[in-house]
Amino acid sequence: MTNQKPIRKDRVALVVVAILAAVLIPVLLRSSPEADDRLDPGLDIVDGTESDTLDPTPELNPYEILSYTIIEGDTLESIARNLGVDVAQLVASNDLTAAETLTPGELVRVPRTGFLYRISSGETLSDIAASHDVTVDDIASVNNIADPGQILAGTLIIVPADPQVASVAVTPTTQTPDEIVGFLWPVNGEVVSQFGYRTHPILGTWERHNGIDIDVPEGTSVAAAAPGTVFNVDNDPDGIGLAVYLAHADDFYTVYGHLSDIQVQPGDSISAGQQIALSGNTGLSNGPHLHFEIRKTPEFPIDPLLYLP
Ligand SMILES: [Zn+2]
Repeated sequence: MTNQKPIRKDRVALVVVAILAAVLIPVLLRSSPEADDRLDPGLDIVDGTESDTLDPTPELNPYEILSYTIIEGDTLESIARNLGVDVAQLVASNDLTAAETLTPGELVRVPRTGFLYRISSGETLSDIAASHDVTVDDIASVNNIADPGQILAGTLIIVPADPQVASVAVTPTTQTPDEIVGFLWPVNGEVVSQFGYRTHPILGTWERHNGIDIDVPEGTSVAAAAPGTVFNVDNDPDGIGLAVYLAHADDFYTVYGHLSDIQVQPGDSISAGQQIALSGNTGLSNGPHLHFEIRKTPEFPIDPLLYLP
């Protein structure tokens, strides 16, 4: 009789552990992808693509609103390329007009598909649908509009169609990207995979490549693209393998992946052109190459080819 109590306590403890596990494990699993855009050891990048590529359901939300803060040297083309959208989508979504100057620091927003449209006074969803060759239902469903008859003027909606945009001449910001930091090529080789949307060479999924792949044999000396400090070194076997992250002036960062050997430590000061590592084929890689990224702020990869000489 008396020895039943400890057994019950054990059972109670097991049940408590099971409940805690059931509650905590999904929370922990869910919280980890949120960190993947930061430059820390938890960075979950698959050959420069975002971590959700390893998710069994890697569908991108086609109507996700992407935002971008304009930096000096940007053009409409560079912004569109960075976001993986068309210039026409960008122009329509942000009401850019001819001869308008892009202002560094200003935020532009654009949905992955279609464009943003602000409803004018007196306009109905039927009017908008008719002039863009979509149905009211298409617009209502993309924007979660329960009652298409009840829309307010001034509301910003996504129109799931190609925008009709007259060609615009937008003046780029005054500085060219090269004048800002002056990046060097980390290795000399052919660019075999560009920045931007592509079919992942191993996973076969359509997703953004956050850097460029430069074809070099294993063991090639990898140079720092600009002066700075070592922000982090990491090994992500399911992603870019052995990697070095450097921090530079003006909140620029560079990332070097699939390395075979790392020759620096976090906190080290690095001069431009200094050897920091040897290239390799580590992580999820389809052959020896250097994966190279430039980021503006730790979380925003930009097209390195716009910045390399
Ligand atoms: Zn890559």
